[in-house]
Amino acid sequence: MAYKDYEIVIGLEVHSELKTKSKIYCSCTTEFGGDPNTHCCPICTGMPGTLPVLNGMVVEYAIKAGLATNCKIHQFSKQDRKNYFYPDLPKAYQTSQYDLPLCYEGYVDIETNGEEKRIGLTRIHIEEDAGKLIHEANGTFVDYNRCGVPLIEIVTEPDLRSPEEIRVFLSKLRSILLYADVSDCRMNEGSFRCDVNLSVRKKGATTLGTRTEMKNINSFNFAFKAAEYEAKRQIKLIESGGNVVQETRRWDEAKGVTISMRSKEEAHDYRYFPAPDLMPIVTSDEEIERIRQTIPELPDVRMKRYMENDGLSLYDSELLVASMKISDYFDQACKQTKNKKVLANIIISEAFSRMNEDEKELGEIPISAENLGKLAHLVDTNVISSSIAKKVFAIMWEHDDDPEIIVEKEGLKQISDDGALRQMAEEVIAKNDKVVQDYLSGKEAAIQALMGQMMARTKGKANPKMVIDLLKEILNTKK
Ligand SMILES: [Zn+2]
Repeated sequence: MAYKDYEIVIGLEVHSELKTKSKIYCSCTTEFGGDPNTHCCPICTGMPGTLPVLNGMVVEYAIKAGLATNCKIHQFSKQDRKNYFYPDLPKAYQTSQYDLPLCYEGYVDIETNGEEKRIGLTRIHIEEDAGKLIHEANGTFVDYNRCGVPLIEIVTEPDLRSPEEIRVFLSKLRSILLYADVSDCRMNEGSFRCDVNLSVRKKGATTLGTRTEMKNINSFNFAFKAAEYEAKRQIKLIESGGNVVQETRRWDEAKGVTISMRSKEEAHDYRYFPAPDLMPIVTSDEEIERIRQTIPELPDVRMKRYMENDGLSLYDSELLVASMKISDYFDQACKQTKNKKVLANIIISEAFSRMNEDEKELGEIPISAENLGKLAHLVDTNVISSSIAKKVFAIMWEHDDDPEIIVEKEGLKQISDDGALRQMAEEVIAKNDKVVQDYLSGKEAAIQALMGQMMARTKGKANPKMVIDLLKEILNTKK
């Protein structure tokens, strides 16, 4: 099979729950969980005669998401009814947006294999979530608690070309929405999920192949696996002379396959029409500008700042901006030290592994940013070595104290006294004839053994650079 002769074309529809306290058209809570059908009222269950009132925060969050993803804003926007019958939708229509979505023509830049790529966003619109069907042995039940929870649907252009790009894009988009603080993006609670539209075509072809849609995938990993499987399935089908059928499929994680659900609906199947009970959404320039001001510095800009101004690597910068809490923490700690690299190192190697061990959430560092910054400063100014810094860090993790006081109290100051170290180096050299001979005969690595002894004698407190320089200096006189 000639997979490499094919190009995979992917577009995504991402649904992200907005973090409003109440639902989109009524005052019911949006809180996750609760006993079935306890978070609903006549409005969100679509009782005849009820009237919806749009929650203003939904518009605000959606515009914020749009601005954070470089979208243009339709200052005159409307809501539409999308009609379909399904038991989880009591009104038999979903209020969504059809031809005038709030946001349009945006983009998100991603990087895969060291290459930058721009993924176009066709649109972002607001809509309401549906309820949930619960299948049990004695029947199927329906829980309307999620009905009317506000969502944004983010639709991309068919710009993605591999399962890996899906993963990178979703993770980037999620991080932008988290920074913009418009959604919790909790994938396990379904508040961030996506539909994957995928087709394949022979490389060089200019028309798109027939696509299938895989719905409601709530993990980056599942999206990756579903796309990988589906691309292979379609190529295999075409290679064996068959045709891809336009349909909706579902990813079966247990079996590792996609399964046909139903033939894909077209827009006209939904008989969209303007929501008669809802006013158009009109937004002023001032309003948009005010919302723009509430967007914090986004991950891309922070990455650039870390690499260009602070000399951090791409990898380290990515780790720091993965959570806004960590990135804010790093920025705060930076005020105490000039050496951002040492600081980043302490956070990445020490703090991350401790958070991992203690099963803490990313961002729950029990050391104040000020104290951690001071620790980096002590390393930078050679008061302590980086190995002693690990010890001090461990103490600080238990009790968040000023590292200077800890170093003083525990007697951990680095020994940088030339006289004392020189004498010790001469003793170590005198006592290790074999190692010295090895070194002199060309085995340069032998010096590490001498260095180890110096560190053991000083309990790790000797200035490592001075030790190595002194050892070399003395040994070279013996050549
Ligand atoms: Zn309600």
